[in-house]
Amino acid sequence: MRRIALLGATGSIGRQAIEVIDAHPDLELVAAASGSAPIDGLAPLTQTGGDLTGLLDRAEPDVVLNAVVGFAGLAPTMWALEHGVTLALANKESLVAAGRLALAAHERGGGLLLPVDSEHSAVHQCLEGRDRATVAGVVLTASGGPFRGRAREELADVTAEQALAHPTWRMGPKITIDSATLANKGLELIEAHWLFGIPYDAIEVVVHPTSVVHALVRLRDGALLAHLGRPDMRVPISYALTYPTRASTTVGPLPLEGLALEFEAVDDHAFPLLGLARAAGERGGTAPCAYNAANEVAVAAFLEGRIAFLDIGAVVEETLSRVDGAAARDLDDLVAADAEARRLATRELQPA
Ligand code: NAD
Ligand code: MG
Repeated sequence: MRRIALLGATGSIGRQAIEVIDAHPDLELVAAASGSAPIDGLAPLTQTGGDLTGLLDRAEPDVVLNAVVGFAGLAPTMWALEHGVTLALANKESLVAAGRLALAAHERGGGLLLPVDSEHSAVHQCLEGRDRATVAGVVLTASGGPFRGRAREELADVTAEQALAHPTWRMGPKITIDSATLANKGLELIEAHWLFGIPYDAIEVVVHPTSVVHALVRLRDGALLAHLGRPDMRVPISYALTYPTRASTTVGPLPLEGLALEFEAVDDHAFPLLGLARAAGERGGTAPCAYNAANEVAVAAFLEGRIAFLDIGAVVEETLSRVDGAAARDLDDLVAADAEARRLATRELQPA
């Protein structure tokens, strides 16, 4: 029996995780948490809002599935890493923000860190059992979102409703906007750097509109391994929850006849948030934390109709130009860097 604590149980990942857990007699939901919706009775221990680490202390899970959205997922990520409890990580924002601090906690705790993000699950599978000296690089695929192919000028007036209509994935609102701006791929670039210890210049991003190839790994002899599958999050969720046994799922096989594999370059001018993430990642310290914080502030403002789509990139760029980006020595430093970036980003929202 594997005892699961599910954080973010009412969200897109959370609901799909419950389906996966219900379908497996060896998986048991022992604790569940949501941000605001009541979830009484969903698990023996439940909590809405508040400090999630208290719930984890009481639940003593074998696996923490962190499917909270945003920086709010930091504390449970650090709890699992520090305690050596297997962390199935959907909440990429916590790893992006904490970076080196998270890796240090992972080393101290000695548990498993398993990505739930589909691209990273794919990379994890392609890298498994491989001598890392043979790996030349990693390629993350991006669907391109609903505005793929549009010029920058054509993005000025797009609405939140249009941005929320993702072509291939059904997800929560924050990550759906991040997919439309390519900030999601920016966060994933930094996530991949920390998960796999790969330098930024060995991580490529390509647009792949059908989201069938989830990621590729380049080997030093010129071979390229690709991971294909339906765009269905139940597969990476199941992989992380049942690792290493890889239980079967109800997701059907991918039909190959007529399948076209198209890849194109990212338009950096129309979608600057990917390049800003790469720069923040290479700068290091708390720059990725500031990138994430400013993006969260800007996305919330865009969803509320307070700023335009292209302002999201402008707010993040301006915030990054103002923070010092000094490395965090501890979690207090990190929380302070996050708060400072939020303050600067919020100031950018006010009309000059
Ligand atoms: P969502 O908005 O659908 O759900 C978010 C969940 O987090 C909800 O249950 C909400 O109640 C909970 N939550 C929010 N703030 C909280 C807080 N302070 N304390 C406790 N719970 C809180 O989001 P989602 O699409 O399920 O995404 C969740 C995470 O997974 C994000 O980090 C996202 O980037 C990542 N992710 C999602 C997908 C996807 O297909 N949805 C794919 C890859 C990665
Ligand atoms: Mg992803």
